[in-house]
Amino acid sequence: MTSNAPLSGKTAVITGSNSGIGLGVAREMAKAGANVVLNSFTDREEDHAIAAEIAKEFGVEAKYVAADMSKADDCRRLVADAGACDILINNAGIQHVAPIDEFPTEKWDAIIAINMSSAFHTTAAALPMMRKVGWGRVINIASAHGLTASPYKSAYVAAKHGVVGLTKTTALETAEEPITCNAICPGYVLTPLVEAQIPDTMKEYNMSREEVIKNVMLKRQPSKEFATVEQLGGTAVFLASDSATQITGTTISVDGGWTAL
Ligand code: NAD
Repeated sequence: MTSNAPLSGKTAVITGSNSGIGLGVAREMAKAGANVVLNSFTDREEDHAIAAEIAKEFGVEAKYVAADMSKADDCRRLVADAGACDILINNAGIQHVAPIDEFPTEKWDAIIAINMSSAFHTTAAALPMMRKVGWGRVINIASAHGLTASPYKSAYVAAKHGVVGLTKTTALETAEEPITCNAICPGYVLTPLVEAQIPDTMKEYNMSREEVIKNVMLKRQPSKEFATVEQLGGTAVFLASDSATQITGTTISVDGGWTAL
């Protein structure tokens, strides 16, 4: 182990990592020396190209495994196909915004499956592999919405609170082993998931893009700045480090003060 490659020899599997936070976390893991396994359900040429670029840039092994995180079998197959899974980062997630009485059932089911149940299935597949090598880190990308709520995001808020609960249970079940499980709770991060919400919100409130960002999105983020994917990746690298060995079953907010309000 060298100081600039503290995760050398470890393999990190990151669900939903061809864009946004997942990709940012994968890049920071690779920068810290970990081999990385990227995932999405799309299986496009560019998905495989992202893995090749990371391998070249950071001198680690990187591969892309297509698997649909809305499907239990695919979640488990992702971990098996990864070949090794020392660090599991449950990140895949989608959003839909609507009042409860108008919320489409299929959107509710998809959000619960992708944002919450996938973490159960991947963790179930990864723990035996971690026990075999005698070391493991499970890092769940929850949200400020895992600790607090907003209207019109019922499925997302329910799923993220569920992820925080799963995080605590996983930590207790592995407490006497060299395995930890924690959740990172980001506030707003400017990723494609958040970009996609801007046009509708502009229409809904009759606001400009800048007004939506400042007065709606960052209204509850006291720093008035987006968190970045690099900062989230750095937090994940810290949770995988030796310094974090006794940190388990907890949440780390990266939200510019949102949940302090
Ligand atoms: P994003 O849309 O950029 O990325 C989502 C990722 O999930 C993509 O890689 C996508 O391919 C993948 N994905 C979606 N459905 C999938 C499926 N069925 N199977 C496999 N992969 C699938 O969004 P993001 O903002 O980077 O979000 C990543 C995670 O961070 C999510 O869990 C999200 O809830 C969480 N989060 C985001 C923010 C934010 O402000 N962006 C804040 C808090 C939490």
